[in-house]
Amino acid sequence: MTSELVYVALGSNLGDREQHLQRALVEITGLPGVADVRSSSVYETDPMGPQNQPDYLNAVCAFHYSGTAQSLLPQLQALEASHGRVKATQRWTARPLDLDILLFGEQRINEPDLQVPHVGIGDRSFVLWPLRELNPNLLVPGKGSVADLCRHCQRFGIRRFNEAS
Ligand code: ATP
Ligand code: CA
Ligand code: CA
Repeated sequence: MTSELVYVALGSNLGDREQHLQRALVEITGLPGVADVRSSSVYETDPMGPQNQPDYLNAVCAFHYSGTAQSLLPQLQALEASHGRVKATQRWTARPLDLDILLFGEQRINEPDLQVPHVGIGDRSFVLWPLRELNPNLLVPGKGSVADLCRHCQRFGIRRFNEAS
């Protein structure tokens, strides 16, 4: 089976945020079909949506995946659950771990429970900045290069937390 280059966003704002991200990277590396995992630096960002919650740590990882996006999503959701994430009734509330599929090769997917590229990719600096670190020339299908998107997105409350290791 051929593999696709996949980009996944990681976010955490509950518990030991750094540990949630580090553990998630190790766990993603161990998923069947995943190879060559690379990760961006970690950024600290103001929360999106409800403001009465802690700041986030955000990063993006890239890897080769031999499988479908539809098979990857439930595996990422199982990791979120294993980090103690519970289903919230309100949107964008605090969580120990959030894993979003940003890009899946050049595929465009529009299904009820899976949209790729991720709907927020073009305007979220906490996704675009780490993506630019991994590949500034990366093209987001239908939207243009990550470098251009970075220039035009709103730079709200984002600062470097630590360098990529
Ligand atoms: P946002 O999607 O705006 O970043 P969120 O991450 O807080 O918000 P969740 O509650 O984690 O949203 O997920 C809601 C639903 O989004 C999930 O049940 C999942 O089916 C769906 N979803 C659609 N596209 C994607 C994607 N590309 N990656 C991850 N989940 C997705
Ligand atoms: Ca998200
Ligand atoms: Ca999510």
